[in-house]
Amino acid sequence: MLGAFAPEDGRILAGGQSLVPTMAFRLAKPAHLIDINGIAALEKLNVENGSLSIGACVRHAAFHRPAVAGPLGALLSDVVRHIAHYPIRLRGTFCGSLAHADPASEWCLVAATLGAEITAMSTRGTRKIASGDFFAGIMTTALAEDELLAAARLPLLPDDTRFGFREFSRRAGDYAIAMALVTLHLEGGVIVDPRVGIGGAEAFPRRIPEAEAALAGRPPEPAALQAAADAAADAIEPLEDIQADAAYRRDLVRAMTQRALAQACA
Ligand SMILES: Cc1cc2nc3c(=O)[nH]c(=O)nc-3n(C[C@H](O)[C@H](O)[C@H](O)COP(=O)(O)OP(=O)(O)OC[C@H]3O[C@@H](n4cnc5c(N)ncnc54)[C@H](O)[C@@H]3O)c2cc1C
Repeated sequence: MLGAFAPEDGRILAGGQSLVPTMAFRLAKPAHLIDINGIAALEKLNVENGSLSIGACVRHAAFHRPAVAGPLGALLSDVVRHIAHYPIRLRGTFCGSLAHADPASEWCLVAATLGAEITAMSTRGTRKIASGDFFAGIMTTALAEDELLAAARLPLLPDDTRFGFREFSRRAGDYAIAMALVTLHLEGGVIVDPRVGIGGAEAFPRRIPEAEAALAGRPPEPAALQAAADAAADAIEPLEDIQADAAYRRDLVRAMTQRALAQACA
């Protein structure tokens, strides 16, 4: 149906928690809605080949309790509490968040930081897209208009993975003005394989190599964490909007990164 209707402005309806409000404001007026709810094959949430596979109809609420044992399940259930409000989390979907690609989406930050693999499906076949190639701008992705985001895969994290997540929003449940997600390991008293992802601050979430370089091989001491937070703040090109100007967002990125790192290293 998407293949047939996409050229006539046909759109997928998943949880409807972004699309329906946009339609209510008349910012989107799709000619056709293709409702994927009820397709059992898209509801799968399972571990396959070392990763957690999340089908297109898996709701945010599926992550309230750890969806998988170990650090990945704990990380996802820590992050999900920051997405909107409970009723919205019962309907909205993980994959819908990736497809919608709001700069402040928590799941987009998770996908970018952990290195998700996205499965896109159309009448032309199936292709895999790495998260680093998926986000292209504000609410813009590598998906073609006739492609369904069928599933996303997140790599399972080794048992000794430490993580930290911090988000700043004006009220609980609001979109983040800035947020930071970090994962790292401590081996022999130093930080190994750090990942630092920033969301809400730029057109789309991404890892910040400058911050990761400031951490790798250093003891988890305040000076290293502060250097990484400063590097993240310096590296970003902040969005400016009604919520925050560039300087304020840059400061928030510094603070969120520092706090997420402190959580991970505690
Ligand atoms: C009051 C409020 C507060 C919110 N706060 C937050 C927040 O803090 N953080 C956050 O991340 N989100 C927030 N949201 C958005 C919510 O998380 C949505 O659930 C999410 O953005 C989109 O998921 P959905 O399943 O509802 O998608 P839908 O609304 O159904 O679709 C959104 C868009 O993605 C497309 N789409 C959806 N699924 C697919 C697919 N499988 N393949 C291809 N295209 C697809 C649709 O065609 C549409 O263009 C909030 C929403 C509301 C109403």
